[in-house]
Amino acid sequence: MADIAHISGLVAGGAHPSPVGHAEVISSTTHKTLRGPRGGMILCNDEHKKAIDRAVFPGLQGGPHNGTTAGIAIAAKLAMTDEFKAYARAIVDNSRVLAETLLSRGFDLVTGGSDNHLILIDLSGKDVPGKVAAQALDRAGIVANYNSVPFDTRKPFDPSGVRLGTPAITSRGMGADEMKRLGNWMADVVEDVENDSLINRIAGEVKELCDQFPAPGVPVH
Ligand SMILES: *Cc1c(COP(=O)(O)O)cnc(C)c1O
Repeated sequence: MADIAHISGLVAGGAHPSPVGHAEVISSTTHKTLRGPRGGMILCNDEHKKAIDRAVFPGLQGGPHNGTTAGIAIAAKLAMTDEFKAYARAIVDNSRVLAETLLSRGFDLVTGGSDNHLILIDLSGKDVPGKVAAQALDRAGIVANYNSVPFDTRKPFDPSGVRLGTPAITSRGMGADEMKRLGNWMADVVEDVENDSLINRIAGEVKELCDQFPAPGVPVH
């Protein structure tokens, strides 16, 4: 079985190897890199389809959410387009550039870089815990989440890592230049989490950048 919740959009867009033909059962969310509404799906071979259908209904699920199902159908249709393939590739390209920028600024990354949409910064060699770093980034207008790293010596609610993802900023149309700017801002903030004037200045620059790359369908005010 393969759970491809995070990477199903990259798989659909050809930017990540597919488990189809290897795993008998594949599960995924529909709202991560697949960029649809919140939901889930299960793919399987013939051998397991009866058991899985029965487990879903009447086993686990009640009434169908038809609006969501229609939204998932639209997301699946969009995922078949050339635009989506370009999007999936851009997510990975952006992730690589952002990772390289952070590495060049002396940050440790779990796995040494990124081949997908995610980057996990390991701050255990720095003075600043993940939560403090994530909260400082938040004040600078950069949303990231604090996250455990492998063999973390700190507790899950006060861990040593910060996790970043490139799907949303890629949807806004940002590319390599913006990744470099963002990576350097992140490094500046995490290296100086108590410097409010620095953080406020960067928050202004982040806002300016976001105004240049509005979220699709959301007007800039
Ligand atoms: C996100 C995710 C899920 C589903 O979580 P939701 O709370 O429905 O978003 C399941 N498995 C993995 C590996 C995930 O990353």
